[in-house]
Amino acid sequence: MSTILLRNSALLVTMDDLRQEIPGGGLFIRDGFIEQVGLTKELPDSADEILDMTGHVILPGLINTHHHFYQTLTRVVPAAQNVYLFQWLKTLYPIWARLTPEDIQISTQTALAELALSGCTTASDHLYIFPNGISLDDEIHAAGEIGLRLHASRGSMSLGASNGGLPPDQVVEDETFILKDSQRLIEQYHDPNPGSMIQIVLAPCSPFSVTPGLMRSSAALAREYGVHLHTHLAETQDEENYCLEKSGRRPVELMEALTWLGNDVWFAHSVHVNLDEIKLYTKTGTGVAHCPTSNMRLASGIAPFVDMIQAGVKVGLGVDGSASNDGSSLLEETRQAMLLARVRAGLLGASKSGNGSPSLMTARQALEIATRGGAAVLGRSDLGSLEKGKCGDLFAVNLDRLEYAGGLHDPVSALVFCAPVTVDYNIVGGKLIVKEGHLVSLDLPDLVERHNRAAWRLVNGED
Ligand SMILES: [Zn+2]
Repeated sequence: MSTILLRNSALLVTMDDLRQEIPGGGLFIRDGFIEQVGLTKELPDSADEILDMTGHVILPGLINTHHHFYQTLTRVVPAAQNVYLFQWLKTLYPIWARLTPEDIQISTQTALAELALSGCTTASDHLYIFPNGISLDDEIHAAGEIGLRLHASRGSMSLGASNGGLPPDQVVEDETFILKDSQRLIEQYHDPNPGSMIQIVLAPCSPFSVTPGLMRSSAALAREYGVHLHTHLAETQDEENYCLEKSGRRPVELMEALTWLGNDVWFAHSVHVNLDEIKLYTKTGTGVAHCPTSNMRLASGIAPFVDMIQAGVKVGLGVDGSASNDGSSLLEETRQAMLLARVRAGLLGASKSGNGSPSLMTARQALEIATRGGAAVLGRSDLGSLEKGKCGDLFAVNLDRLEYAGGLHDPVSALVFCAPVTVDYNIVGGKLIVKEGHLVSLDLPDLVERHNRAAWRLVNGED
């Protein structure tokens, strides 16, 4: 039995169904789950650990729904800086072909450290390239040392260039092995229970890097075990053209034909979707990981994610990357989502003739996508808000800082409107991941040094 008590916050944002915000609030967590949320005076006065949150705002932990941790090793690669997705991928595939198990371990910890410091408590990752003896186990073990919840995707590529795919043949895998390894990982690691720290997801990479057969087999295997499915979809115009050319279908149509729509599926991006396709997402319960920074970085377009939310589609946020972001700050991504929604609203308003402009996304709406939205996308009813019975996952920020000076008229909105900060506390299942602004379980300078060394070797092909 272990208990932790947080008291005296400046403001506690519950994100519960009533969207209650409690000035002077706190909460009491027992064995990883929230037992009580409310005014400090109503909470127990003793616990194994007591944190005084005076001057801090407390929010539910942010949930990241799309990422490629290994790409932290290939940020800002010069030849991949100023190109669209397909050329970006073709530039990076041969570099990624040199990845080693140790690279996966180091990059996983780097990405999770950044995520944790930006308020993220649950991260989904999509690893789809497995050269040189790499397995998803390398990532899972490295993540276990940090303590964030992980939805680890067993990604895959099976359609090499010689068969009409985009990736070079040297980085694709045998389909029989992909499915066998997927099954092994589910049986070895997947925990579907409330409070789960690790879940396995099956995630063929994209329509242009796997066969339709692998998509169907992966869906069948995932449904046999009750695990979720994830892939990139409708990210760019090039992808749409590819699907139309190869299959005569638009990307979403293709997914429907491959049994890839449903409550257990979420797609990264969905930039190029029309209103009928959005309706299909709503009808089938299919979710979306919106990745605004990556979409801007690669000039992919602006996803109609406000339309999706209004249509009842489950939408979460993803930092994506890290070679297309090139960072892992989920608080920053929340800000980007709000700002990009406003760019789109402005464009739509300008195209109307005198009928008024669409309303602007608020900071609280953006935070809702990053918390409740992400939980819905990952199928986690135990996450996303601070209320009795949910996981004790939260972050807290000290409001007394340069970035928020003059912005405390509305501290919750300041988190999104003002420059993104690193958080002062990050707690997952009642355990401290970040305390007083520092990661509890990591020697950061040592990690950065090892990471830079690994990145140099990977990109330049030498030590
Ligand atoms: Zn991606």
